[in-house]
Amino acid sequence: MSDIKTIEGVDVRGKRVIVRVDFNVPIKDGAVGDDTRIRAALPTIEYLVNGGAKVILMSHLGRPAGEGFEEKFTLAPAAARLAELIDAPVAFAADTVGDDARAKAAELADGSVLVLENLRFDKREKKNDPAFCEELASLAELYVNDAFGTAHRAHASTAGIASLLPAYAGFLLAGEVETLSGMLDAPKRPFVAILGGSKVSDKVGVIDALIDKADTIIIGGGMCFTFLLAQGKAVGTSLKEEDWVERAGDMIEKAQAAGVKLLLPVDVVAADAFAEDANALTCSVDAIPADVMGLDIGPETEKLYADAIAEGSTVFWNGPMGVFEMKAFEHGTRAVAEAVAANKDAATIIGGGDSVAAVNKFSLADEMTFISTGGGASMELVEGKTLPGVAALR
Ligand code: ADP
Ligand code: MG
Repeated sequence: MSDIKTIEGVDVRGKRVIVRVDFNVPIKDGAVGDDTRIRAALPTIEYLVNGGAKVILMSHLGRPAGEGFEEKFTLAPAAARLAELIDAPVAFAADTVGDDARAKAAELADGSVLVLENLRFDKREKKNDPAFCEELASLAELYVNDAFGTAHRAHASTAGIASLLPAYAGFLLAGEVETLSGMLDAPKRPFVAILGGSKVSDKVGVIDALIDKADTIIIGGGMCFTFLLAQGKAVGTSLKEEDWVERAGDMIEKAQAAGVKLLLPVDVVAADAFAEDANALTCSVDAIPADVMGLDIGPETEKLYADAIAEGSTVFWNGPMGVFEMKAFEHGTRAVAEAVAANKDAATIIGGGDSVAAVNKFSLADEMTFISTGGGASMELVEGKTLPGVAALR
């Protein structure tokens, strides 16, 4: 996987470089809310600017219909935010491959930056349409992909364009691929994988892949109840996926056969409703009352999991342990986050939108070795799938 060329060392002075970034940021009242994704692209953008390139940035934002301009999905606020972050003017083209984009790309000075309008205003982007790829490529002499978050999509700006121009990885994308592939190919052992979140069905590929790689698998979140059902336990009104019980049982057996420790909760915090102010109780997994739902792992489980996490030399975490968005059910996720943060001897890697949100909520992001910016893309990489956006750079 790490056989991709990065832009480092390439002579970009005076060249037009078109860069696929992930500026799919939340917009509120015409301004960028959380600008994490823009900041994540800064190392590549600044490297190109300092190297004297004419930098052309392209991205999607949201889910426009693909029938042209839609005010609420314009990238103009992202361009404005970028100008603040790099403390330099940023030009903005009112279209993606039209007259304005071509004119502004042509008149770029060395070391200056242009942001093109939302790629997905044109439906040909998602179709990886050859003519659209040609039109994008014609704006520049070199191509860089730094949009790890969309690397699992074969679109014009992530896949097709790469065969039309010399193609390189940006620093964000390269770092993600290197860290996640390195973790899977040569983890320092013991390798502890923590998996949670809502559903087993969302994560089967990831769990399966990690049973082959990890030494210990820790299961929490809504998905644990389907595993508990497979063990013949009653789980009350907890989130459960009847159709996946057999598969969960197979995974428990597969782990056992492979000598992988698979840990399930021994106690849970359960409530009579999916609500912040519900009546909550703590109970053993052998005695979950019929009329309550498990919304977090319990205190005994927290201790068990913290001990297992402390033993890891590589720790990967995807998926909250409970409904951490509600104060009453955040304790287990916080305890696990703290245990991961406390293991300073390990490479600690966090992946997944909600898991990263949880780590940020508890202000522990700086304590982790690596926080992945790609939700779906990182999960597909962990599953062992080939990411079209990465394959296109080989
Ligand atoms: P990630 O985005 O990190 O991959 P997921 O999207 O799989 O994580 O899961 C996150 C969601 O799982 C959160 O919104 C959380 O509230 C929910 N969740 C966790 N535990 C439970 C539970 N016991 N019951 C219902 N939902 C849960
Ligand atoms: Mg999620």
